[in-house]
Amino acid sequence: MTDPFAPPPDEIGTEFDVIIIGAGPAGLCAAMYCGRGMLRAVVLERGIPGGELLNTEKIEDYPGFISILGPDLADKMAEHARQFGADIRMEEVTSVIRRDDAIFEVATATGATFTAPAVILTAGGTPNKLGIPGESEHAGRGVSYCAVCDGAFFKGETIAVIGGGDAAVEEADYLTRYAKKVYIVHRRDEFRAARVLQERAFFNPTIEVLWNQKVLEMLGDGKGLRELELEHSVSGLRSRLAVTGAFVFIGFTPNSGLVKQHMDHDAAGYIITNDRMETSIRGLFAAGDLRVQLTRQVTTAVGDATTAAIAVEKFLTARKALLAG
Ligand code: NAP
Repeated sequence: MTDPFAPPPDEIGTEFDVIIIGAGPAGLCAAMYCGRGMLRAVVLERGIPGGELLNTEKIEDYPGFISILGPDLADKMAEHARQFGADIRMEEVTSVIRRDDAIFEVATATGATFTAPAVILTAGGTPNKLGIPGESEHAGRGVSYCAVCDGAFFKGETIAVIGGGDAAVEEADYLTRYAKKVYIVHRRDEFRAARVLQERAFFNPTIEVLWNQKVLEMLGDGKGLRELELEHSVSGLRSRLAVTGAFVFIGFTPNSGLVKQHMDHDAAGYIITNDRMETSIRGLFAAGDLRVQLTRQVTTAVGDATTAAIAVEKFLTARKALLAG
């Protein structure tokens, strides 16, 4: 819906000052700050606002909320952004191109095109797959990438969580409310997850960690997943683990491929920015999980987004001054 109070298109003829791609914590926070800065901003999101918050049961590390459900925090962030005039639209972005006149063209799956002199990319990432035999065949029939979405289907069952990062260790703990037994299958002999999450998992009697185990194959019958074929990373010994569910949490790949021109990134595809969240493409800013950084938390995502929105405001002011001669 177009804001009836929005100022007319500027001298370049773009409808917006800035296009925010993604409505996770970073996108919603950027929208809030852009609204406060009186920028004409639009947020394009393929699903409902919230991003990874919607896949997280409880958030216990967002200051001011000792414990809050992920979807509830998502609702609060969206409401807060809207209070400051955020225009959030359900549109799946398919490409971002910077034209020769320095205006960005953002195309979406509905065939719409949005234009603005600045873009903040907060599109997060997509869960990584193991890429082993049986994984895609059993996806949705035993194999899952979201504990909050699918955990309840495994009431009273024995399941495995694969990975050793924050997501794997935290979600294993969450899944014990449904499953009667949760194995964490990790390829090394130590977790990279935060100490507090590790302690919680170690003290949970329903969790058993299988160290140094690689999953080679997911085996099942017509009804779903039945076993994992494992290989010990040190001895090479093979074994089978009987499970009816496997939750894969082995990181994610940043959704940086939307941008069709070269943009500096690291070997894994994470976008390199400076301390103003500017990418190597002038006018394109990045915030949140798809940016190169030490850790990816809700708090770091909103921090990035705050910086990006304020940097966009300064960028647009400088641009206007330049255009005015
Ligand atoms: P991550 O930190 O990158 O960890 C990925 C885990 O998967 C690692 O333990 C890795 O093993 C393992 N792995 C990767 N590829 C594998 C493969 N092919 N086969 C088997 N194991 C594989 O990813 P994440 O846990 O999804 O977290 C992503 C980001 O979100 C992190 O920055 C994290 O801090 C953040 N996050 C935070 C929270 C929280 O604070 N509550 C919750 C979720 C996510 P190695 O250790 O051997 O490399």
